[in-house]
Amino acid sequence: MDYFPIFVKLSGQNCLVVGGGEIAARKIELLARAGAKITVITRKVGSPVAAIEAKYGLVIVQKSFAEPDLQDFKLVVSATDNKETNQLVAKAANALGVLVNVVDDPSLCSFIFPAIIDRSPIIAAVSSGGAAPVLARLLRAKIETTIPPAYGRLAQLAEKFRSQVKQHLKDPTQRRIFWENCFQGQVAEQVFADNGPQAEQCLLQALAGQQQYTNGEVYLIGAGPGAADLLTFRALRLMQQADVVVYDHLVSPEIIDLARRDSEKIYVGKQRQKHTLAQESINTLLADLAKAGKRVARIKGGDPFIFGRGGEEIETLMQQGIHFQVVPGITAASGCAAYAGIPLTHREHAQSVTFVTGHLKDDSINLNWTQLAAPNQTIVVYMGLVGLEKICLSLIAHGSPENLPVALIQQGTTETQRVITATLATLPEIIASQTILPPTLIIIGTVVTLHDKLNWFNSSGAGIDV
Ligand code: SAH
Repeated sequence: MDYFPIFVKLSGQNCLVVGGGEIAARKIELLARAGAKITVITRKVGSPVAAIEAKYGLVIVQKSFAEPDLQDFKLVVSATDNKETNQLVAKAANALGVLVNVVDDPSLCSFIFPAIIDRSPIIAAVSSGGAAPVLARLLRAKIETTIPPAYGRLAQLAEKFRSQVKQHLKDPTQRRIFWENCFQGQVAEQVFADNGPQAEQCLLQALAGQQQYTNGEVYLIGAGPGAADLLTFRALRLMQQADVVVYDHLVSPEIIDLARRDSEKIYVGKQRQKHTLAQESINTLLADLAKAGKRVARIKGGDPFIFGRGGEEIETLMQQGIHFQVVPGITAASGCAAYAGIPLTHREHAQSVTFVTGHLKDDSINLNWTQLAAPNQTIVVYMGLVGLEKICLSLIAHGSPENLPVALIQQGTTETQRVITATLATLPEIIASQTILPPTLIIIGTVVTLHDKLNWFNSSGAGIDV
């Protein structure tokens, strides 16, 4: 270990930064966030430093650094682009035994700045000992994604109740188990969902021995349109702590692979004409699992509240008093449009976008055709493949031009994505001679013409542009 990591209390302590440019500003900001009393010695004050001065208040001395300046400082940073000045600062600091950092010159440093993950009061620091700062920063980004921003609030809550818990639970092992349950169970979830008062209530109930933890809960998670890395951080975290995963056919195996290894996986997929479980049975299943104390990740394709019947599932939970939370996902329209290079709105093409379902009920599609046939808009049709011809004909009958561009996107955002572009008049026939794999999304409007220009995603499924 070339450097020993410690966390230094700087609040109210005198610190000196030599230099007034952008790099100096970054260090000043960090020290200011730690509450340091900062003096800046510089001949020229750059605008970032001026901005920090306005926000935190700094003592700025406009002069060149000289050895006698180094009095009563706990820590010094030299961030000038002048080698001699940097050396002078380091030498003077070392002579006085003051901690010194010279930006970009590890050989002159008695301490280095780590990459910081700030979830105050939780702080994590990553360092490569000056060997590869960019690598340390990349690692920090990885850690950032696994620590929810609300961890700071969780730690604050623990701090607030720490002595009360200590008084109540005298045995250290019992206390450890209590806190582990809090940090991994409902208390933490309430904090992450920004429900501070409920979190406190859960904690106090648990402390009073009312076993809240035996109650399960349901996470209604939108898993996005296909590509696994389009999941949200929250979705991933909840999937990794769930005891049971209940999923649809739209959720790809790569996404299910990201769930907790030892969780029970229940497939309740609904495919056209192939309903594995009726919706009511799914609603009941979720409620029963939660009542049996399980944490249930109900994973749906796209967003649970867009043609996802997510509302019905949580209604049942609500009626039965089961705790749940809803995690939004990237809906197919957003995912497919982005990956096909088709902006859904565009100043020159479309001022609005409408998501509709093309699902046939009693062999007819009930949509407001007059409204949908108006110009300057984009229509996205979910579940529209079977009714495609009806949709195109109805739009034309209500005034849409026959040559209005249409895109059909197969398995959007995945490696097998395929984009077929045509017009209202030609698409049904083109599709008829193709093998099209589900799921497919249809985008209608002149924004589709942008696909040629903006297409960036190279998938293996060959697209046809007609
Ligand atoms: N809740 C989902 C939609 C469920 S309805 C969401 O927000 O995306 C199912 C329909 O979504 C499919 O019939 C198809 O039209 C569309 N869909 C979902 N994922 C898709 C994908 N990767 N590519 C194309 N269409 C998709």
